[in-house]
Amino acid sequence: MIPFLSFDHQHKILGSKLLKKTAEILEKKNYVLGGEVNLFEEKFARLTGIKHAIGVGSGLDGLIIALKALGIKYEDEVIVPSNTYIASWLAISQLGAKIIPVEPDPKTYNLDPSKIEEKITSKTKVILPVHLYGQACNMTQILKIAKKYDLFVVEDNAQSQLAKWENQFTGSFGNANATSFYPTKNLGAIGEAGCITTNSREIMRFCKSYRNYGSEQKYINKIKGINSRIDELQAGFLNIKLEVLEKFTEERILQASYYQNNLPKVDNLILPFQEKASNSVFHLYVIQTSERDKLQDYLNNKKIGTSIHYPIPPHLQEAYKELNFKKGDFPIAEKLANNLLSIPLYPGLKKFDQDYIIETISNYFK
Ligand SMILES: *Cc1c(COP(=O)(O)O)cnc(C)c1O
Repeated sequence: MIPFLSFDHQHKILGSKLLKKTAEILEKKNYVLGGEVNLFEEKFARLTGIKHAIGVGSGLDGLIIALKALGIKYEDEVIVPSNTYIASWLAISQLGAKIIPVEPDPKTYNLDPSKIEEKITSKTKVILPVHLYGQACNMTQILKIAKKYDLFVVEDNAQSQLAKWENQFTGSFGNANATSFYPTKNLGAIGEAGCITTNSREIMRFCKSYRNYGSEQKYINKIKGINSRIDELQAGFLNIKLEVLEKFTEERILQASYYQNNLPKVDNLILPFQEKASNSVFHLYVIQTSERDKLQDYLNNKKIGTSIHYPIPPHLQEAYKELNFKKGDFPIAEKLANNLLSIPLYPGLKKFDQDYIIETISNYFK
């Protein structure tokens, strides 16, 4: 079986360092918000070209805290893609704000800037673009609209560490942005972690306080915060994994271009489309076909693991039944949910495995 995703390669390269770090942290007896966290925040910010990174408990918490830092509250409206992972929506719901879904560009699968303006009202406060599958959104257009209507931008960068739009890293455009270090992400911890990125000192200070019960100084609480701290083990692991992020990212890009060049050029198979200004980091390699379910079964029978991102768009989830959306309301998101299939792509995936995947998909379409 070729698994859809495997950590074996990472663990082979980094395993002994990760174990050594574990022993070191056990010994130090400082387990939460210590030296490893400070070091990680500094390094991640520097690597991605932003002033501040603030480590938090998860990517979802990062989004919630970023919105909170911008003062988003009950009944404010937030523009968000209709085809994202549900976490982007959940963050908005947590603040009691209103979700305003906008359809993606059917080619890039990212928020379609030409459909944003018609959804803006006097209550709109934020545009929340999601750099889906590793590809940067059109930030030039999005920032232009945000400026015209005086809106904040919060990037959901969970899938796109080191992706670029016009040579600038994603997660460095918006007012306050969030990313996730869930194990499967391009930069993954060995457990839960996330962070907020911002160029604003004021937002950085809010986030650092809010994640820690609203306290900057022990037992002095200036705001009502939460506990969404990052622990030393996860930050320590992330410091080790950060060293190979660029190398792993290059590997992902090479694997993607190998697929791109060698998968069959047939009508019923659409390969990822890359906008010129966007450098995708291929968190996922997502193909599109109207025979998705049949192809997935076929590949499964041929011992190739695949996955679907995502089978049900958020507006059709039971969790959002109160919004009264129905089938047909967001046809592009719904079509993508029915037609997209993610095939294996990860550091350590072997060339001969890719050849087998390509050959098997070619045989299916013959
Ligand atoms: C993973 C993910 C999140 C949430 O991150 P967690 O760390 O799992 O909370 C948010 N948005 C997108 C697009 C994601 O892929």
